Amino acid sequence: MRNFKVILWDIDNTLLNFTASERAGIRMCFEKFGLGECTDEMLEDYAEINIKYWQKLERGELSKDQVLVGRFMEFFEKYGRDTSVVEAFNDAYQLSLGDTIVFEPYAKELVWGYKGRYKQFAASNGTLLAQTKKLKNSGLSEVLDGAFISDEIGVEKPMQGFFDAVFAAVPECTKDEILIIGDSLTSDMKGGADAGIQTCWYNPKCKINNSGLMLDYEIHSLREVQELLGPVLF
Ligand SMILES: [Mg+2]
Repeated sequence: MRNFKVILWDIDNTLLNFTASERAGIRMCFEKFGLGECTDEMLEDYAEINIKYWQKLERGELSKDQVLVGRFMEFFEKYGRDTSVVEAFNDAYQLSLGDTIVFEPYAKELVWGYKGRYKQFAASNGTLLAQTKKLKNSGLSEVLDGAFISDEIGVEKPMQGFFDAVFAAVPECTKDEILIIGDSLTSDMKGGADAGIQTCWYNPKCKINNSGLMLDYEIHSLREVQELLGPVLF
């Protein structure tokens, strides 16, 4: 077991099941804006559109606002919905994301179990509005030692400015005492590897690592985090 001191937890699809809150949020907003039915197929399609936009953000090709509005613009155009409500729809959606909290398996037990044993921070590219509400409603804000949210820092993962903010907050730690745990190769793992900290890829769907990145650890269940950080009670 390595001598880690700081854990950076990605939020969406690492600690929390983002897919569940995304689906519930979009359906809730479709109803609110009178946009008709949003089928499972549409939700799956939207999820793919959304990922495409976030990856453009990670590559610095779009701003956060362009991502937030652009993804719904493309989605609404594709399904013939009224695009004039896209901005208001996104505002409502950001708030609704924090209404449905579903933890990833073992996430809650781990974070609560490691309280006081490690310094634990959230590290997220989500919007400040959505992430603050999620952290509060999940109880994570009570347990974590803090949160790095790109909206506040002004730089997204995988950009190094994001990790500079982390280093500034834990000046007593060396880079190999910091571990990032996340599901995204393009933001969490690339950012962590470029910053020189230890990386743990949470890969529950057993995807292929086609990133070219050399990762320190790969896990398929969060339960395996115990092999790196020690046991907790379940
Ligand atoms: Mg994620």
